[in-house]
Amino acid sequence: MNTDPNVTLVTPDAPIAAATHGGRAKCLQRLTRLNLPVPPTVALSFPAVKEIAQGVLPDVDRIVSAFPSGGLLCVRPSSEDPDWGGPGAILNIGMNDACFEELRSELGADAAARIYARFVQSYAVHVARLDPDVFEHVTCASPQEALQECLTAYEDEAEEAFPQDPARQLSDVLKSMARAWEGTTARLLRQARGAPPDAGLGLVVQRMVFGIGKGESGSGVLQLVDTATGAPQVTGRYLSQSQGREALKPESEALFLTHDPRGPSLQDIAPKAFGALVEYAELMRRKLREEMQVEFALDDGEVHILDGVRVARSARASVRIAVDLAADGIIPREEALMRIPPRTLNELLHRQVDPEAPRDLIGTGIAASPGAATGKIVFSSTEAQASAARGEPCILVRRETNPEDIRGMHVSAAVLTEKGGITSHAAVIGRGMGLPCVVGANDMRFQVRQKTLTAPDGRVFTQGDEITIDGSTGQVLAGAPPLLEAAQDDAFQAIMDWAKEASDLGIRANADTPVDAQTARNFDAEGIGLCRTEHMFFEADRLTVMREMIFTADPEDRREVLERLLPMQRADFTELFRIMEGKPVTIRLFDPPLHEFLPSDRSGQRELAEALDLPLSDVTRRVDALREYNPMLGMRGVRLGVTVPEIYEMQARAIFEATLAASAEGDPVVPEIMIPLVSAKREVELVKTRVDAVAAAVRNEQERDFTYRLGVMVETPRAALRAGEIAQHCAFLSFGTNDLTQMTYGLSRDDAGRFMSVYVQQGVYAEDPFHTLDIEGVGELLKLGAERGRAAQPGLTLSICGEHGGNPESIAFCREAGFDYVSCSPFRVPVARLAAAQLAIADKINQRAA
Ligand code: PEP
Ligand code: MG
Repeated sequence: MNTDPNVTLVTPDAPIAAATHGGRAKCLQRLTRLNLPVPPTVALSFPAVKEIAQGVLPDVDRIVSAFPSGGLLCVRPSSEDPDWGGPGAILNIGMNDACFEELRSELGADAAARIYARFVQSYAVHVARLDPDVFEHVTCASPQEALQECLTAYEDEAEEAFPQDPARQLSDVLKSMARAWEGTTARLLRQARGAPPDAGLGLVVQRMVFGIGKGESGSGVLQLVDTATGAPQVTGRYLSQSQGREALKPESEALFLTHDPRGPSLQDIAPKAFGALVEYAELMRRKLREEMQVEFALDDGEVHILDGVRVARSARASVRIAVDLAADGIIPREEALMRIPPRTLNELLHRQVDPEAPRDLIGTGIAASPGAATGKIVFSSTEAQASAARGEPCILVRRETNPEDIRGMHVSAAVLTEKGGITSHAAVIGRGMGLPCVVGANDMRFQVRQKTLTAPDGRVFTQGDEITIDGSTGQVLAGAPPLLEAAQDDAFQAIMDWAKEASDLGIRANADTPVDAQTARNFDAEGIGLCRTEHMFFEADRLTVMREMIFTADPEDRREVLERLLPMQRADFTELFRIMEGKPVTIRLFDPPLHEFLPSDRSGQRELAEALDLPLSDVTRRVDALREYNPMLGMRGVRLGVTVPEIYEMQARAIFEATLAASAEGDPVVPEIMIPLVSAKREVELVKTRVDAVAAAVRNEQERDFTYRLGVMVETPRAALRAGEIAQHCAFLSFGTNDLTQMTYGLSRDDAGRFMSVYVQQGVYAEDPFHTLDIEGVGELLKLGAERGRAAQPGLTLSICGEHGGNPESIAFCREAGFDYVSCSPFRVPVARLAAAQLAIADKINQRAA
């Protein structure tokens, strides 16, 4: 039989592979190679099973003859990846009246009847496809009576006696399992789990070890680690006189595995078997290079290993298990890194809703910033601050957020908005602060003025009601489900250190404040790739000065007001340089339209009029004058720098003075100044001339020298196309893919959330392009810009600082295109770093293979 790969006995050298016989068959072969007590097993290949589904059966008598005569069999599925699932196992095949008589003298009448009855039921439902209800009336009076009732029910319903021929039983089981795999539901289910459409199914036929019988007989599972944490701990279940996975049923009276004061354990009642099982599990760990769950059966105290499956694990456990396997020298560090899907790190970085907990779903939006938090609803930043003052965690609920909400966001536990997409204000700020955030939850009704939030099912929530935001899934939940704490433990740290060593792509953080910068340092970011300076102007004291500046009539007055902002900005930058200790810091000059700094509602405008001692009409007139039809395409970025140059001059001075201040205390600082929203070379020339002049003035005044690097943010398609001439004036180009995506698609980043899900569902876009870089379109501009920039200026530093910088697929693209680094929100640095390390390792592996 071993010469036929399609139907082969599982022996150490049989022709079995996971790709042709499935993971279970391959694993069982490995266990036999380790000399473990695995019952005799026959493996059927994918092609053999496909033929069975089409009605062409292998020689079933030959399969039956491969086993000791008189024994019963079981059949289990063996898909290539165990996660793809498969039809349920069928146990006790071969059971019939004759066998019942034999077993009756061996095991006793009740045990034999129980085994037979269970088989009749499972055969009836899964093979003969009878309605499970036909056994509803089966009483539990005595096992033998129950068996008779089962046999009669089968006969009545199937209109034939229960089949007695073991070969026919096996043929029918094989056919039903093969056909179940071909069914539409099964196909959709496995495709949802990542299986290809043509995924094959193998089957393994194994001799039954009863687990029911004399002495200590039973079945169970054992593993060496805790599923939730990955920490070493023998865990599992064992149930005397049981079969299959009965021990795992919640209502079963399974025993503990190790000594336990709460009751008897397998270790107490069968110490030898327990010792052997632990030894086998350790051997499997070492030789299969994985934490395995051992599925076993005891037969009169003797251990049989029925199967080994990879231990199911939480994200946290997957990190601990990989690190421990590497630390024990079982796998190399590189392999440990490759085993952890980068996105799972998110679950370690933030609190999560306990996956086991029930969820009372009241709305769904875009998962804009991972993590979960519970709090009382507030509808404004002022209420958020009041709530924080009372020490009550709150959830800020807004239709959308704008810069005025930043203070409220700072004191909230999470944010929920009706509008917006993955790069909207709330999303970007939320990710930067590590604040759970759901945006675009437009299945809920937001009535912010009336202070109500209505769920699609009609439930109304008002201020003070407790809700939970799950920013990892985009769900809004009523109440306070249990949360799991973040777990940045030593295993996490080890993975981060190893990833840094393996990676060949720089990872910087987008950080606007000292708190952000400190988070970036804690995650060992190699610098700040984007400091959005406008975020520094929203502190209450600065906002007023900023507004005053906006109200000035001429450049002289403007300079005077800006003089008051200068020391504040200088202090900001000095602090950032200090925290980053000589690591590069890229500071972006002022970017947003000025009107964002003005109050949008009447009461805010009245307050401003009071503060500036101006008539209210002056304030409203100025606000109206600054209003634009398309502010994102209007007077912002370098356009302000060209037309209101005093702002950039003040910022350049603050940067240079901070450079000298920080350099005097520590490592020399070489600041990087970045110009936003450039579309023409001349814009860069104009700003560069002014910034150079400020640098010269500061050098003169302080009689000290410093250098700086000037760069351009490529955020408009034209800047990418003209990168050749733009690069002549700069040391670096950083692609702002949020705006670049917006402008390439002509798609508002703040409004796209309204129809994005429909667009993705209908396949117009494969994914939200603000989330995953559009390689075909925006990516082509990135490539063009990079090539043209580098051709003009070979040493040009290239990077990406849009939100895509933290997305593993986009990182692969940037690395391929020869970028030097990616920059992303501080909390995304670990994910980005692991993704980058995996790409470098995969390249190495491919090179070795070539
Ligand atoms: C961008 O546009 O990609 C960017 C990083 O800038 P912002 O998100 O601040 O517009
Ligand atoms: Mg931008």
